[in-house]
Amino acid sequence: VLCTGNEKLSTIGQDLERLGVPVLFLGSLFERAEVKDLLALLSVLVDRRAMGLLRIACWPDFTTSFSDVAAIFEHLRAAEHSPGSWLKHVDAIPTVSDAGRQALSKLAIALSGFDQTASPWTVLATLLLDRTRIAARFGASEDLADRTRGIAIWQFLNFMRVQPIGSGLPITRMLDRVRRLVRLGDDRDLRQLPAAAQHLDAVRLMTIHGAKGLEFGGVHMPGLNSDTIPRTPPAPPCPAPDGMIAGAEGSALEAYRAGQAEEQECLFYVAQSRARDRLILYAPTEKSNGHSRPLSPFLDRLGSALTRRSVVPTRQLPIAAEARGVELVIDGRLRFGAPQIALYESCPRRFFYTHVLHVGGRRTTTAFMHLHEAVRSVVKTVIASDLPVTEQELTDRTDTALAGEGLGEHGYRAEFRDLALAMLRFFLSGRAGAIAEAPVAVSIILGGEEILVEPDEVLMRPNGVRAVRRVRTGHMRSAESKDVGAAALVLAVKQAYPGAVAELVHLSDGEASELSLSDRELKGRTDKLSKFLGDIRTGRFPAEISSRTCPNCPAFFICGPTPDGPLQKKFA
Ligand code: SF4
Repeated sequence: VLCTGNEKLSTIGQDLERLGVPVLFLGSLFERAEVKDLLALLSVLVDRRAMGLLRIACWPDFTTSFSDVAAIFEHLRAAEHSPGSWLKHVDAIPTVSDAGRQALSKLAIALSGFDQTASPWTVLATLLLDRTRIAARFGASEDLADRTRGIAIWQFLNFMRVQPIGSGLPITRMLDRVRRLVRLGDDRDLRQLPAAAQHLDAVRLMTIHGAKGLEFGGVHMPGLNSDTIPRTPPAPPCPAPDGMIAGAEGSALEAYRAGQAEEQECLFYVAQSRARDRLILYAPTEKSNGHSRPLSPFLDRLGSALTRRSVVPTRQLPIAAEARGVELVIDGRLRFGAPQIALYESCPRRFFYTHVLHVGGRRTTTAFMHLHEAVRSVVKTVIASDLPVTEQELTDRTDTALAGEGLGEHGYRAEFRDLALAMLRFFLSGRAGAIAEAPVAVSIILGGEEILVEPDEVLMRPNGVRAVRRVRTGHMRSAESKDVGAAALVLAVKQAYPGAVAELVHLSDGEASELSLSDRELKGRTDKLSKFLGDIRTGRFPAEISSRTCPNCPAFFICGPTPDGPLQKKFA
């Protein structure tokens, strides 16, 4: 199977594996299920909240029910433990079932002697080779999918053996490095199959570039659509000056485009000439929204050699583990804050980890995050006291807040102080001449479920306009003024403050923007809110996978399958 890019190949590889077709393709090593399982296991030794348990509980060796996993999360939230130490005292966690205790005792034995200071390679080599039958099972299996999994684990162990020297805990350092490699797309070397695996009889997946010089009896090439090949790349951010390219006709941009078009033709030629006997080209003719999707103009060049056929897939693609629903048993109505429901809009799975399981929050804080926390605390005191603040009081409060966040002696203290004061002065300027009113939380009921909107402040301006404001210390996200969180604020203002305006204030931008949603937009967002609440109730939390955002997500190493069994929750 030949594709233009690695991301598409990864998707096709995973889909073929789910259909039981043996493939010889690793894809992105750190996003493979078996490697993520191992990363999740290692994370348990350095993560107080033991988020990785979600994946480990799905292993056949340590199967634990969802209710037991939730009971452990609850226990860890309530008590102070060093990471991983709770495994020694599972018997003392009252709500865990006998079956759960047995599975976790096995995990405790498998990890005994290791703590947060352990070397990741030693932990995994010991666990896979000495203390469980996991490596033996992969080694003895005749199933090609298992053998590919074994190769991926072998590749991962090799990666872990050679880690750069640095300070800090070895497992944490390794996990941070994995995030960095994926974020920068710098894990390409690890995608290569070792030479010893090349003889395996399975479908090979590779990029067209990677297939240069090779030949196969049959070649499948998906995505023969006009928006895939030839691809029109965006204009270069820094094009050569006109006249600089020797022999080029027209402007530098035209020369660039002509070069790109030629390269696309070469790519198509390389792909089709890899086939010795059969070349099978695929192109969907319809988009998911029902609009038609044109075919690639390159197809016409194949003339009468091409037999065109319309195919309707006969096999359903099995649902991916991370797309499977969660068996949620909810006592009473749902109740979520507007920012929480906005997270469901960006990634339902992340919402699930953060606001249903309460394990997904960020755990590493930077000095910059402490700066924002300090600003937030001063903003709160200003809103709470409702007395005019002099410049001297402002600087005093800022200094105290920065010191309280541990930035009093920081090397960039002066810069942080300037930034904090600039944000706070902007905040105060927005209140000048206005009378502050006590903000009240507004409850919006949709389909029997509840969304709670808590404005940060309400100001009556000298011109008689009341402003209901949400104050954030950071920058405004591109879609923030139109997301469901903004819509919830507008709905709350209409309900509890008729005639008032809703405002989003972003102190890092130094901007306050009035929210304006047309009736149609507001209706669309309200329908979306209702749908999201319905999806949450039925346990639908699909993962919104993105190579840009996932490596920064706290749930990156555990995102995937969830344990079996019902999960009981009460939100209101
Ligand atoms: S890793 Fe990606 S898909 Fe998974 S929860 Fe985080 S953002 Fe969502």
